[in-house]
Amino acid sequence: MKYRTASLEQIKKYYQLETDNGLSPSQIKASREKYGHNDFSTKAGPNLFQKILHHLLEVMNIILLLVGGLSAYLAAISNGNYTKTVVVLLIVIINVVVSVFQESRAENALAALKKLASPTSTVLRSGKIQTIAPNELVCGDIIELSAGVQVGADIRLLTSNSLQIDESSLTGESEPIDKNAEVEISTDVPLGDQLNMVFSGTNVLNGTGRGIVIAVGKQSQMGQIATLIGEQVKGKTPLQKRIDKLAKRLAIIAFAAGVLIFIINLFYGNVPLVDNLMTAVVLGVAAVPETLPVIVTLSLIYGVENMAQKKAIIRNIPAVETLGNATVIASDKTGTLTQNQMTIQKIWLSGQKVWSEGHLSDHEVTLLQNFAYASNATAQFHDGGWEIHGDPTEAAIIRFLIKHDLYHPENSPKRIIELPFDSTRKKMSVVIPHPKTPGRYMVLTKGAFDRLAPTSQHQPHHPQILHIDGTAALQSDPEEALLLEAENIHDDFAANALRVLALSYKDLDEIPKDLSNLEENLNFLGIVGMIDPPRDESKAAVQEARTAGIKPIMITGDHALTAKAIAKQIDIFREGDRVVDGPTLSQMSNEELNTKIEKISVYARVSPEDKLRIVKAWQEKEQIVAMTGDGVNDAPSLRAADVGTAMGIAGTEVAKSASDIVLADDNFATIVAAIREGRRVYTNIKKTIYYLLSANVAEILTMLIGAIVGWGLPFTGIQLLYINVLADGIPGFGLSREKADSHLMEQPPIGVKESIFSRGVSQRIAICAIAFIFTALTGFYIGKFIEIGGLTPHHQLGQTMAFVILTIASTINVYNARSNESLFKRGITTNKTIFGTTLLSLAITIIFTNTPLLMNILEIVPLSLTHWLIAITLALIPTLVIEVTKVILNKTGKKFIG
Ligand code: ATP
Repeated sequence: MKYRTASLEQIKKYYQLETDNGLSPSQIKASREKYGHNDFSTKAGPNLFQKILHHLLEVMNIILLLVGGLSAYLAAISNGNYTKTVVVLLIVIINVVVSVFQESRAENALAALKKLASPTSTVLRSGKIQTIAPNELVCGDIIELSAGVQVGADIRLLTSNSLQIDESSLTGESEPIDKNAEVEISTDVPLGDQLNMVFSGTNVLNGTGRGIVIAVGKQSQMGQIATLIGEQVKGKTPLQKRIDKLAKRLAIIAFAAGVLIFIINLFYGNVPLVDNLMTAVVLGVAAVPETLPVIVTLSLIYGVENMAQKKAIIRNIPAVETLGNATVIASDKTGTLTQNQMTIQKIWLSGQKVWSEGHLSDHEVTLLQNFAYASNATAQFHDGGWEIHGDPTEAAIIRFLIKHDLYHPENSPKRIIELPFDSTRKKMSVVIPHPKTPGRYMVLTKGAFDRLAPTSQHQPHHPQILHIDGTAALQSDPEEALLLEAENIHDDFAANALRVLALSYKDLDEIPKDLSNLEENLNFLGIVGMIDPPRDESKAAVQEARTAGIKPIMITGDHALTAKAIAKQIDIFREGDRVVDGPTLSQMSNEELNTKIEKISVYARVSPEDKLRIVKAWQEKEQIVAMTGDGVNDAPSLRAADVGTAMGIAGTEVAKSASDIVLADDNFATIVAAIREGRRVYTNIKKTIYYLLSANVAEILTMLIGAIVGWGLPFTGIQLLYINVLADGIPGFGLSREKADSHLMEQPPIGVKESIFSRGVSQRIAICAIAFIFTALTGFYIGKFIEIGGLTPHHQLGQTMAFVILTIASTINVYNARSNESLFKRGITTNKTIFGTTLLSLAITIIFTNTPLLMNILEIVPLSLTHWLIAITLALIPTLVIEVTKVILNKTGKKFIG
């Protein structure tokens, strides 16, 4: 069937749509069987074998495999003891299994999140409007289109009203395309010219429409170029890249240390060549925090999951990090800082007194009804109550009418033309039959007061200001006085935090062909003032942001006075701050904006385009901006912002797909909670680095010192691998789940270029490593040189002591890493993962150090009870040192890790 050229009747018949009710369940099933699902078969991900291979080929594992090969060769030519080979292979297997497991866990978590953030389609089925996932669409479905919607399948339009589509994702054309259901296409024309068609994956920028699905899945235009779909931004986050770099640098240091140790031992000649070589190579591997990259990924994923629970859905993983860097939150007002529950509190008709309660005059009733005629919000009576659908500003009008028993939609006049509302124009108009004179028409325009106000600036022809019934009651009033009065009343409403909506009208003899003058020469009727109270949590969230060194600013389409009044209530506006409105902003040069920006806490009457300028101006000052948005036109500023934040409820699909995070509850406080979570993730990664590196640094230096002073090597390669993978590797995973320290939101934001070692992390690593080195070497010395408990001192006894000490000390060091507080204050069992894994690690160590076969593998010997007591005492010293360090730091107001 040729959809473009076929008539609508032919298409409807083809899909057996006799009525305008949409498909029935049986038709849906039949259609799906015939034309398939609305899925694009994206390339399958790597299979298990490919995943394993991928991880095997990581540098770390390749080196380990080489070490394994070398030890196998050495075993073959010497004693035939393959224990080392087996151990090294086991470590490789553990590494690969853990990585593959964590990776698939991460992928599953992301897939679940992707579902949360995926768009929906609105369809008409069996006479009911329903919201479904786009992949449930079938050919023949009737889809509703409105501004901000992402189109879920290819459709032929049935109706359209000022419909504009962004087809850039399909054709690369960035100009909006005007679509029109009426257009007839007789021959095949290129995609861009198919004006009666709307395609899957494109976005509705403006207007409304309804269409019938004619192609789904791979048959759709987008499906045919399926490479574009399902593309997922993969790759690593900046922090992950930095960590990878760090790991590589450490590998080089460790390798250099290995070479140095090899040379020193060669020089002393006290270590057998084979052992010397093995140890040097293994040190190059062992002294690198193998588990660090995995823990970083886990921390990020866990952060993403946590944020989702707190209603912030991350669309872009790096945003987890960027959130921690945020220094400015530029937030919408309506619905984000306020409740979006608008209630009309005041009414004013020109020449009359302000209504605020009690009986409504006829004029006031007519004004409100006309407001409703110019609105798209509707209400349905359900289960004994009214359910209102639509834009909250318009919903306020409907709610008011319902409350006063004036809502009678059946009496509404038929709408002939609509010029839709958009937040740049800040008004909307409808044309309806004239209520009094048949054959004539009336334009009703509602919108922001300053766009409709009876000012000479807006009304160059000085029209009369009339009452709704057309009586020129105010003609005798001097116009100036009336304008002044209107403005005074408006300002009074706005200063009381009311959103003001004005209504104007004009009569028409006939419907104009050209609509460009439709909103000119209007007669002002009156205004309503509606209250939209701040959300309960806004003020506290603003406070938290301020303490955390983040500047909150309000950006709103509302009037400056209304905006300022609300901003004051929630402490975004403070004495000395400035409120700037759109027109003033557009007169400011970039330089002027740059010098004033820090003082401006409220932007009012701005258009989405202004938002982009505000983002850029802050970014020029090297600030990291989180910016909220909901409309189609917000997409550019959401993309430009460091953390583009879309509204989950009020937001359009276009805004969501341009954003990094989506707020499921549209709430400002959720942004602050997400920032707190971002900081927690970052700090936990720093804690992990402290935890792992202090052991790694200690290993390298202990080996070097042992070699240099001629004591021989305090550890064997296998022992080092054991410490890294089992002793501190396992508990380290639990740090990704550590809860936030209370001071986290009292610190300045994390600088983008700030080193992971900043704020004292390197010093803390140094303190801990020194304590490790001191205790390990002391143990080594005691075992090797001092006779205790009837055991003859010897090298392997020394190594066993050093091994037991560093193993236990580094395992329990995870408790030091957890927080700035004493480990006792934090609670031993509060982080279940850490508690469990620490016990597990300690248990494994006890088993390994007491089972002859395993002791053989680890190349250790039995200890006397006295040796054990000494080892355990020494192993506790580093924790004691850290506890004392924390007390001193806390006294001076510094943090252990922050
Ligand atoms: P914020 O940016 O704080 O979220 P907003 O996005 O609701 O606010 P706009 O939608 O741009 O702001 O509204 C700005 C002004 O436009 C309002 O003050 C009001 O006067 C007018 N307005 C809002 N909604 C409508 C509507 N449905 N019809 C006509 N005018 C409207």
